[in-house]
Amino acid sequence: MKVYADNAATTKLSVNALNAMMPFMKEIYGNPSSLHTAGQQAKEYLEQAREDIADLIGAKPREIYFTSGGSEGDNQAIRTAAYIGAKKGKKHIISSKFEHHAVLHTLSALEKEGFSVTLLDVYSVGIVKSEDVENAITEDTCLVTIMTANNEIGTVQPIAEIGEICRKKGVLFHTDAVQAVGHIPVHVNDMNVDMLSASAHKFHGPKGIGFLYVKSGIPLKNMIEGGAQERGKRAGTENMPAIIGMVAALKEAVEHLDENAKKISAMRDRLIDGLQGIERSRINGDLSHHLPGTLNMCFEGIEGESLLLLLDMRGICASSGSACTSGSLDPSHVLLSIGVPVEIAHGSLRLSISEYNTMEEMEHIIKSVPEIVSYLRSISPVWEKITSEEK
Ligand SMILES: *Cc1c(COP(=O)(O)O)cnc(C)c1O
Repeated sequence: MKVYADNAATTKLSVNALNAMMPFMKEIYGNPSSLHTAGQQAKEYLEQAREDIADLIGAKPREIYFTSGGSEGDNQAIRTAAYIGAKKGKKHIISSKFEHHAVLHTLSALEKEGFSVTLLDVYSVGIVKSEDVENAITEDTCLVTIMTANNEIGTVQPIAEIGEICRKKGVLFHTDAVQAVGHIPVHVNDMNVDMLSASAHKFHGPKGIGFLYVKSGIPLKNMIEGGAQERGKRAGTENMPAIIGMVAALKEAVEHLDENAKKISAMRDRLIDGLQGIERSRINGDLSHHLPGTLNMCFEGIEGESLLLLLDMRGICASSGSACTSGSLDPSHVLLSIGVPVEIAHGSLRLSISEYNTMEEMEHIIKSVPEIVSYLRSISPVWEKITSEEK
């Protein structure tokens, strides 16, 4: 049995999205910047797509910029706020310890450019406290950037509350909503956000496309110089097939949001039920403020990588945390941020479920994980040490 349980890394392209894209790879190939009929036809589709995305998140069309995905959106949003802040002499940025590297590495780069960064604690539950945001804001703060939902442990942050605080204090607020869009309700006004980044391949759209919402009045900083596309804020001929595919995928996801969330969380709950009895295991992140489909667990005395390889041999695709840090031997910064000890963080497993999964697949996971964990422990000197210390 083949089980794809790594939907937080990327998702399968929806058939609707694929079908919507096909004409744009065959017949409708005009460049939206061209003045002839083929170009103008593409331009119309482009602006319709912008309107559709705006409608789906409660924004205005001119507040939507197409990007290459979540990383680009995060970079551009953060640099925009930094640029605006620097002009007023405000060079302090607030974020959290467990952001995606697209955020954290942009912040490190800005630190080298003279900005100071406060990374807020997320506590053992994996949730930022809005009063911590309020207390961290100073006269110098130009940006607060806090993710809507964490990509490794699935916890959902109190974005609307944080946004309200930022509004009151006159500080720009960006959220990396890559894991949230298409999975939980995302409405920019309800969330009180000024900027929000999203990526299509996390909601069954194509890879290499995303969008950035920027509230009108905020002068977006251009990061790619060239033509006048995206009103001069992001040069390069628009990726029409991908944009059209993203719209189709998001429409589909939003239309079926509640129904999918119900189906997905039922599968996730079955996994919890079937796996939480494993000796010396733990579930990471507060399940009461959570994405429907993400489950992160740690098993003491084993290496997450070995677990993944053996799961893969049984047809199960999972991950030990974020796809971006796999290959490095450092334990996940997300797990460390919620206080998981280094040696335990090494034994992590992230299962992320989508509506394309089935209960039958969950049973396969529930049968496989305990068997593999037992096997790995039987050959693990670390496990032997843990259990002998107990005696
Ligand atoms: C996947 C992901 C990103 C990066 O998105 P890309 O489209 O792959 O660049 C950023 N933030 C979060 C939370 C993600 O899960």
